[in-house]
Amino acid sequence: MLRVVRGASCCNAAFDILAQSRGGTIGFVPNINCSNLSLRHQYSSSTFSFSPIRVAIVGAGPAGFYTAKYLLRDTAQLEKFGNEGGVHIDLLERLPTPYGLVRSGVAPDHPEVKNVQAQFSEIAEHPRVNFRGNVEVGATSGTGLSISDLMRAYHCVVLAYGAESSRELTIPGAHLRGVIPARDFVGWYNGHPDFVHLSKTIAERLSHSSGCVAVIGAGNVALDCARILGKGGSSLAHTDCAAHALEVLTPNLSPSSRRRIWILGRRGHAQASFTIKELREMTRIPTSHLVVRDDELQAGRGKESSAALQERPRQRIEKVLNEAAARASRNSSYSDAGSNKTEVSLRFLVSPVRVVSDGEGSVSGLDIERNQLVSGEGGAVVVRGTGELEHFPCGLVLVSIGYKTLPLQGLPFDHRRGIICNEHGRVQGLRGVYCSGWAKRGPTGIIATNILDAKDTVKSIVDDLQGELLRDLRAIKPGWNGLQDTVRSAAIGWEQYKCIDKAEVALGVSCGKPRKKIVHRSELLMTARGGGC
Ligand code: FAD
Ligand code: NAP
Repeated sequence: MLRVVRGASCCNAAFDILAQSRGGTIGFVPNINCSNLSLRHQYSSSTFSFSPIRVAIVGAGPAGFYTAKYLLRDTAQLEKFGNEGGVHIDLLERLPTPYGLVRSGVAPDHPEVKNVQAQFSEIAEHPRVNFRGNVEVGATSGTGLSISDLMRAYHCVVLAYGAESSRELTIPGAHLRGVIPARDFVGWYNGHPDFVHLSKTIAERLSHSSGCVAVIGAGNVALDCARILGKGGSSLAHTDCAAHALEVLTPNLSPSSRRRIWILGRRGHAQASFTIKELREMTRIPTSHLVVRDDELQAGRGKESSAALQERPRQRIEKVLNEAAARASRNSSYSDAGSNKTEVSLRFLVSPVRVVSDGEGSVSGLDIERNQLVSGEGGAVVVRGTGELEHFPCGLVLVSIGYKTLPLQGLPFDHRRGIICNEHGRVQGLRGVYCSGWAKRGPTGIIATNILDAKDTVKSIVDDLQGELLRDLRAIKPGWNGLQDTVRSAAIGWEQYKCIDKAEVALGVSCGKPRKKIVHRSELLMTARGGGC
């Protein structure tokens, strides 16, 4: 059997490697530069094969898994010219658990969306894929790795680390207690270990005398947050919503102190970024009702919106909003005593201008300004404030204005667009480094959007493997074994993650849930390492 070695820069080094290799393998050293010895000419290419192409994918979310899937598929063709080992992929993930936002973003009342995890777990089970959880790239902690560490150890590094931060709200009062990024709130109700500590603040803020919550932004995440609040803990009891969140979200409110949720879109309904399915769902929550203002829909139908409102998806959205507005005017005040439903008020053409303090560092309300639509540069539809202000009291402000990808040290980063500088996934100026998913294109798009995106990146990688770049990739790389001991010993492998999975599902059975998430990192690690599964 042949054991394979990959390029070395001089003959002696190559022979050292050959001498060290066990298992009776002869190595092919393709870029060896010796005039009197050409291994390439001594042996036919069918006799030899390259050592595995070692790939590190950073982030085990949809982008990471889809990139792994298409890398395995599209590098299979490389085997015909001697790549017997194929690609060997390490999926490096900072959490002990895989799946990214499918686990910690997708709403607990959308279990069907999470079925994609079955497909991802098949990829993780592939013999040439290794999940390495609890491995953070770019961290300063003991288990941290730099991009250069990875470039040294792997032929190819794919950055698929998503968007680990939030766009900032830059109005006065945005720092007050009770102003929380939607990303943190979502992570909290989904049991992401980084956000468990928010329970106390959220509970306290939800018990604010106004009973009101403002959600800034008109995207699908804003609707997710409003729907989870609108449904409350009891409706979510049989989902995988984190236990700590169920407790807090189950309000013990009298009808007079019932909850009200404001969703605030700065532009009109024709520019809102939520989608029809998610909007329709808002009208079907038994414990809440959706209120839309006809005057705001009217104001959003100016010439700036005419093109958008010709599109079928927009027309469907408009129909649902019109119906909600008509219902709201028929039941002129849902606030009547006697109704204990949560009122979800979807507002358009309003911008937050100031978060109001209670004098003790916490939120007591929000000032908003009404807007009008105007045409901006290059056909953009933007808003201009009218100067007309409105105030409403609230205890919690969820800022749902988009996620934000963070730069990692040593990476070229486009701060304006919030993405890694890349062309079709090739990271600018860093040979052998690629990106995929939200880190590549910004925090937009559904899970399936990452399929095309991953295919685009994989095409770049395969082109580079087949082309000029392949020569540079012929050095022997140790992959995982070349990383620091501290990193390797702290990592959670796939079999260990399966212990977490098994334990969560078992815990869920007793409470009628698909799983009860383990939410503390230490407990996740203990469960994974316990080996008792
Ligand atoms: P992510 O899913 O964020 O994965 C990135 C992974 O990288 C994470 O596991 C993270 O822990 C890891 N990571 C981060 N930094 C590091 C590091 N330094 N080192 C190692 N690992 C790291 N789409 C749908 O189709 N349906 C839905 O219902 C839906 N709901 C959504 C709900 C919310 C709240 C959000 C925000 C998005 C939702 N989406 C939904 C969109 C979908 O989740 C995204 O398109 C998709 O998750 C993006 O994939 P990604 O792999 O780029 O990022
Ligand atoms: P998003 O769709 O980009 O929405 C962000 C919203 O914030 C927009 O309404 C935007 O308004 C507004 N906004 C931005 N800056 C603002 C500011 N300074 N003040 C006030 N408003 C501001 O982002 P998202 O909701 O975070 O969703 C991210 C992606 O995940 C989206 O592609 C989404 O479809 C996807 N997702 C999908 C699902 C699902 O399929 N069920 C669920 C959740 C998320 P402007 O348009 O005026 O900028």
